[in-house]
Amino acid sequence: MSAIPTPNLSAYPELDTPARLLFGPGPSMVHPRVTRAMTVPVVGYMDPLFLDILTKTADLLRYTFQTENRLTLTVSGTGTAGMEAAIANLVEPGDSVLAFAKGYFGLRLAEMARRYGGNVETITKTWGEAFAPHEIKAALDRRPAKVVTIVHAETSTGVCQPLDEIARIVHDQGGLLIVDAVTSLGGVPLKVDELGIDVCYSGTQKCLGCPPGLGLITVSPRAEEKLNARKSAVPNFFLDLALLQKYWGSERVYHHTASMPMHYGFYEGLRMVVEEGLENRWARHRKNAETLWKGLADLDLTLHVPHDIRLVTLTTVRIPDGVDEAQIRQRLMQDYNIEIGAGLGDLKGKVWRIGLMGYSSREENVLLLLAALEKLLHK
Ligand SMILES: *Cc1c(COP(=O)(O)O)cnc(C)c1O
Repeated sequence: MSAIPTPNLSAYPELDTPARLLFGPGPSMVHPRVTRAMTVPVVGYMDPLFLDILTKTADLLRYTFQTENRLTLTVSGTGTAGMEAAIANLVEPGDSVLAFAKGYFGLRLAEMARRYGGNVETITKTWGEAFAPHEIKAALDRRPAKVVTIVHAETSTGVCQPLDEIARIVHDQGGLLIVDAVTSLGGVPLKVDELGIDVCYSGTQKCLGCPPGLGLITVSPRAEEKLNARKSAVPNFFLDLALLQKYWGSERVYHHTASMPMHYGFYEGLRMVVEEGLENRWARHRKNAETLWKGLADLDLTLHVPHDIRLVTLTTVRIPDGVDEAQIRQRLMQDYNIEIGAGLGDLKGKVWRIGLMGYSSREENVLLLLAALEKLLHK
């Protein structure tokens, strides 16, 4: 057998990644304070210093979710891990599930619930529209469900789903409501307890100014009852919330080693949410989005979603006739170091997706992006 040759290091230079301006569907730009916090030395997973950070993270996360839920923690992974934690724990084989899908992530929730044995029916909507409460009620009247899933901020379409009344409708039928808040938490008004949401999950790299690396989840007492009454063990060991809570709670039983740097950074990111104040943060995201929308209109560009349900953290822009959408994105990156997103699924080739999330949501960024677009579109 021949020896495995030693790679020539000149072909593997030290990384030198430019700081991109991230205005796509995520990740967004990481705040320098978060980056700095991540360089603090790694300690052990049972070190009192680290356990204290976890406890404080859960407190700050409750504020960010606007909830008093005891079961509020992070899982290693990304927003998808938060989604999978919600489904793996809440959906038992045979459970009736209603998935309201108005875009890519709504469909992903349905697919996940199916994989965990849920008896899933998917109610779909044209990409760019939102569900009305009466539609949710009608679907549940026809087919009661133990678990209902819906996406708050649908990143594939740029729609913000109004959540008023939905939890009450679901609860009246004896079900539990799971809400995806990956692209809304920290950027769009969201009050988990006031809205009556049972399970809400998110991630770190959209509106919280952190890199990808944690899934965030909060579970209502009502949903905890369902977890406690499960007939079978959660089929996903890594995302078993009862086991995770034994580490996060007072028992401090080892489950898995979380990334210390990621937690340091996230802790700083949450401190910055408190420092700014949630209401101010929501207002900042809205103000910068309104500036973007006005500027895009001045460039004769058409937005895909009507103003009343338009998502402030992600804007879908229709591609004008005769414009090579991929070429514009390529030139934005090559000439201006700017990333924006392409359309996904039903909107592939039809829209650009412009994200203004977290630390990316700043007026100077909006003006820069508009100026670059104006140049490239030869206005
Ligand atoms: C980004 C996103 C996810 C998935 O999060 P990842 O961090 O990419 O795993 C889920 N739902 C929505 C609405 C998202 O925008």
